Formats: sequence, C-alpha cells, structure tokens
Amino acid sequence: MTELVWFRNDLRLADNPALTAACAGNAPVRACFILTPGQWQAHDWSPARVRFVVDHANDLARQLARLGIPMHFLWADRFDDALDRLIEHARQHRVRRIHFNEEYGINERRRDKALKQRAERDGVAVNKYRDQSVAPVGKILTAQGTPYTVFTPFSRRWRQWLDHQPPQVLPTPRPRAEALEPKPIAAVPDGFDPAPPALVATGEAAAHARLARFLDAAAGHYKTRRDVPALDGTSGLSPYLASGVLSGRQCLVAAQAARTAGNREGVDSWINEIAWRDFYIHILYHYPQVSMHRAFKPETEALDWNGTGPAFEAWKAGQTGVPIVDAAMRQLAATGWMHNRLRMITAMFLSKNLFIDWRLGEAWFMSRLVDGFLASNNGGWQWSASTGTDAAPYFRIFNPVSQSARFDPDGEFIRRWVPELAALDSKRIHQPWQDGPTVKGYPGPIVDLKASRQAAIARFRALKDGA
Ligand code: FAD
Repeated sequence: MTELVWFRNDLRLADNPALTAACAGNAPVRACFILTPGQWQAHDWSPARVRFVVDHANDLARQLARLGIPMHFLWADRFDDALDRLIEHARQHRVRRIHFNEEYGINERRRDKALKQRAERDGVAVNKYRDQSVAPVGKILTAQGTPYTVFTPFSRRWRQWLDHQPPQVLPTPRPRAEALEPKPIAAVPDGFDPAPPALVATGEAAAHARLARFLDAAAGHYKTRRDVPALDGTSGLSPYLASGVLSGRQCLVAAQAARTAGNREGVDSWINEIAWRDFYIHILYHYPQVSMHRAFKPETEALDWNGTGPAFEAWKAGQTGVPIVDAAMRQLAATGWMHNRLRMITAMFLSKNLFIDWRLGEAWFMSRLVDGFLASNNGGWQWSASTGTDAAPYFRIFNPVSQSARFDPDGEFIRRWVPELAALDSKRIHQPWQDGPTVKGYPGPIVDLKASRQAAIARFRALKDGA
C-alpha cells in the first residue's frame, strides 16, 4: 500500500509537512501535481504565474526522483475533474493515504472536503496539514477567543505566540530508494498569453540562495529602503512564497538566525512583513466571504462604484497621465511584479480617485502578477479600498503626487518606466500638467486628483451616515 503526496501550493521538499508525514514510515511514496488550466483561468492566474508554477513543479519532479519518489502530472480542467483524476490515480496505485497541505480559498476548501468524502468511500484516508502560515491558522486569537481583524494587535500576539512556540523547520526527507529517471514533465497549458521573462531563478535551491543573499546584504537596510521603488530594497521572494517554493517558517527562522546588533532594525521590519502575510492568511481562513468577491466590511457592499470604460482601460495600460501610477502599471505589465508601495498607490488611485470597484483591480493584478496570492492580493486591495481590515479611516487617501515626490524623489523610477517624461526635471516629473507645456506623447491626467478625492470621501461619508 502506497502513500500519495498531492502537491499544490507547496512546491518544495524541505519544510513540507505533507511530504514529511508521507515519508515517515517504510511504505512506498508517490507524488502528484494536477494541472487545472480551466480553474487557473477562472481564478485569473497570470501567464507569469502559470509558467512559474509549471517550471517549479517540473523542478520538484526532478528533485523527488533523486529521492526515489515518482511524481505524476495529472491533467484536469477544473477542480471537479481533478478529483476524478486523483481518485483514479489512487486506485491504480493502491494508495492507502493521500497527504496534502491545506489551502484556504473557498473553492479549494470545497474541493478538499469533497475529496475526503469520495476517497473515504474508496477506503483511502485523507490527511491534511497546516502549512501555509508561520503560526498555524486558528491559533492567533484575542483574549475572547475571536480572530483579530486589525493588523497591529494581531502582530503583537503573533510575536508572543512564536516566542513561546518557535517554529520548527522540517528537513528534506532522506532518499527512499534508488534515484529514478523523472517521468515526462509538464508543459505550460494552452490558453495563456506568453509570460514576461522569468523574474527569479527556478528551484528551491535558488530560492534559498536569494533569501540568504538578501539577509546577508540587504535586510539591514530594509527599513529605510523598502519604500523606494527605484532601489532593489526588498527581498523579491514573493513568487517563491506565493507558490510555496519557500515557506514562511523558513523565512522567519533564517531571518531570526541572521539577526545581529548591526542589522536588527532592518530584519525586524522585514519579519513584520512575514506577519502581514500571516495576517491575511488568517483573515482568509476566518472570513471566507473575502474569497467570494465580498467585502470584509459588509456595509461597504452598498457603495455605488463608477462604471469602468476608458478610465479603467487607461489605468490598466499605464496611460492615466499620473506618472507614478503609469510607471507602476507598466512595471507590472512588463515584469509580472510591482513594488509594494506602488501596489498601494495604484490600488488607491483606482478605488478612490477613479472610484472603480476594487474587485476589478484585484482581478487585474491577479491576471498579471507572478506572485499572485489570494490572501495578500485580496487583503491589499480591500485595505486600499477601505472595504477591508485597514484601521485607518476611509478619508486617509494617498495623494499619488506627494507619494511620488516622497518615495521617488528624483523621478528615477518614473524615468525608467515612462520614458516620455525622462527629460522633465525632478519636480515636474511628478505632475507634468503643472507649470509647463504638455508633454508630447504623454496624456494629461484622466482625473482631477483633488476633486475625485473629495467625491470619494463624500461617498464613503454618505454610506456611514446611512444616506
Ligand atoms: P518583501 O518586502 O521582501 O517582503 C517579504 C515577504 O513578505 C513578501 O515576499 C510577501 O510574502 C510578504 N509581504 C510583504 N508585504 C506584504 C503585505 N503588505 N501583505 C502581505 N504579505 C506581504 N503579495 C503577494 O505575495 N501576492 C499578491 O498577490 C499581493 N498583492 C498585493 C496587492 C495589493 C493591492 C497590495 C497593496 C499588496 C499586495 N501584496 C501581495 C503584498 C506585497 O506588495 C508583496 O508581497 C511584496 O511587494 C512582494 O515583494 P517582496 O517579496 O520583495 O517583499
């Protein structure tokens, strides 16, 4: 009888609870990965992410083969068909137990529940493991036993909890048999546009090397450089974390080990971002409505968003006439990644200045990001749109021009992505419509920043007043 590991959002050998559990005994171990292109499309997966996942699943198959564990690629269009393939595979290979690490999107939860029922009818046990967050979901609760809905108290409790229960990182399982020849590897399914050039090197070893390099050379300056998009001031690890090539625990444990008197501030500030990731995973776990296109704050469902039309198209294309927004959107289109500060600026611009439904922005980001991760993308969008967990009031709206002047003071990032503006001086580049002739080839702003800000505030206020 065989143990089967179903890899999903955890494309790694080390620190993988499902793989470790399957390898605990002497029974033969097999692995599988199911390609579900129809479901990926329904979930707005970007071409960059699809290619990243396929490349990493192939790499994982090679690494597993070295351990003597065969990996099978199964094809199914949607999650429903995926279960048929999986059950069939389990029957063929006399599987006794299926092991997997939990995922928290609503469709994933429903799929896993259905699997349990179907597999158990066949006499196959299903074992699931908590893996995705550093502190297991359901553990970080208020004194009243309720989930936190605001980040700062959550993070305080998160740190205390981890001080008492320091996370353990599981080793890569030992080889179980002679190395195998990896079976035919998976190809990128049809139906996805060509992906932008790969942003990071493929593989678990490459992910760890990047983590080590970041902690060694850059983490000490993280606090001061993390908000400046022209600098390489953040780790760039998000694609690995989003697909589980690295775990949050591995990041936290490595960061704690690398912390010295000299880099403490920077490293602690980076650890805070790992806490943000955990926070949004916890929100997704406790408030499943956020993965059903619903607002975290139900009263904001009544907001009457503007239609889409040309403004939405201009935002997507990086042609809004607001340089920092356009530079960011062009970075996203060309690379599949966007700096965190810019994600906040562009999301607020769409949901507040253009007053376009945050759900459209969330889906657009997902359809472009290589690091698309439901919990963080939804959390970040709802935070920016004031429909989510943001503790700040709705009227605190970023002004993209002042954000630009503050975080890209010389306009270096704008010049890189909006070459039409390269010749402007460092003051005018943030708002080219001021003090000078129009810039050839670059649009004027599609919205009046001040008036649109006031209109957004009025619409939120009316909601609050029950108007
Ligand atoms: P670093 O600054 O080096 O941070 C390390 C890790 O911490 C990141 O890789 C990420 O896993 C986590 N992290 C950092 N900031 C946040 C945050 N604010 N929320 C949650 N986790 C965080 N992150 C995603 O991984 N996938 C998404 O789809 C995603 N969509 C976002 C959408 C919006 C509107 C906003 C405002 C933020 C979004 N983020 C998302 C969070 C953040 O922008 C990225 O994680 C970060 O830019 C990745 O770059 P990095 O790896 O260099 O981050």
